Amino acid sequence: MALTQLPSTEPSVAAHEGILRRQSSRESAARTYARSLPIVPVRARGLTIEGADGRRYLDCLSGAGSLALGHNHPVVLEAIRSVLDSGAPLHVLDLATPVKDAFTDELFATLPRELAESGRVQFCGPAGTDAVEAAFKLVRTATGREGLLAFTGAYHGMTEGALAASGAAPSVRVTRLPYPQDYRCPFGVGGENGARLAARWTESLLDDPKSGVRRPAAMIVEPVQGEGGVLPAPDGWLRRMRALTAARSIPLIADEVQTGVGRTGAFWAVEHSGIVPDVMVLSKAIGGSLPLAVIVYRGDLDTWQPGDHAGTFRGNQLAMAAGAATLRHVRENGLAERAASLGVRMLDRLLRLAGEYDCIGEVRGAGLMIGIEFVAPEGERSERERPEDGRRS
Ligand code: PLP
Repeated sequence: MALTQLPSTEPSVAAHEGILRRQSSRESAARTYARSLPIVPVRARGLTIEGADGRRYLDCLSGAGSLALGHNHPVVLEAIRSVLDSGAPLHVLDLATPVKDAFTDELFATLPRELAESGRVQFCGPAGTDAVEAAFKLVRTATGREGLLAFTGAYHGMTEGALAASGAAPSVRVTRLPYPQDYRCPFGVGGENGARLAARWTESLLDDPKSGVRRPAAMIVEPVQGEGGVLPAPDGWLRRMRALTAARSIPLIADEVQTGVGRTGAFWAVEHSGIVPDVMVLSKAIGGSLPLAVIVYRGDLDTWQPGDHAGTFRGNQLAMAAGAATLRHVRENGLAERAASLGVRMLDRLLRLAGEYDCIGEVRGAGLMIGIEFVAPEGERSERERPEDGRRS
């Protein structure tokens, strides 16, 4: 009988190089992180990853924002082990299970009150982009309308509808609106005035019968744009988006795939402005490092029919157990508040550095979701790269 040869985890530069070589000859040209990070992870704990070559790395990517507790946190491992040891089925389609029930309890305990009291949850395919598609289908079914409002700089995923909402694929169904920002304000003014003009533009497109924009099925917004460059939406602007969508019966979808589970200094980033969206799109950290995505939404939007959004992988028990443990740990240990206070300290120091170094264009963020915009130092910048007059350079 042949013994299965498990890959060695002893450090070996030759093994490390062999694996990378085979990856580049066999995997798709579309692979992403692997191109710029020639690492072969074999062990990880917290912030640290150990490679097959024996080198240790500090993981500042945090699984693209999906590791609220870092790698292999003990409460996550314990939750996964307890499901494995219990003999529970690992594949259950969308059937009810005690593990799912506990996850749903924990998720609802974190949600804005209005959604927790009367909202619904739909378990989607496991990626954030699947949940975005589900949200679009939900609001289109509920409103009978087609169009979507989305923002410049947005990122919602790589499937067709999500790409269109991100502006990466042309679409007649998506109207793109200005997202307020100081450093590269589309109106050249930044600050409150920039946010006011951005809101005014949105309002006039919706209300001017000659704008060519029909009443849409929804508006989708990231409370802090992630891939767009870590841009926190001003609270007042977000409240205005909430008010003007509510007044026109346009469902507001908050994409909290990247901002959720404490990262921005609140459990959900919408809490900073106090708005309650009609739909929340959640993924990444809610699975405690394993794939899981859901939408939660106002009960009266639940007009789709059985099977309208079905799929094989909707019941990842390990992800639900890991996710429930993560949500509970973040909630019980006040980790959102901790991210808020650490974020203030970090922003303060980074802002001081920005004052000293010409290559730092802007430092911005919320909680521990922080971005530093590096620019070519003054003198080396082309006209296009220079921010508008009146803003710090
Ligand atoms: N929405 C936001 C705000 C994201 O940042 C991402 C991914 O980075 C997605 C959606 C898509 O998630 P996924 O990569 O899991 O499909």
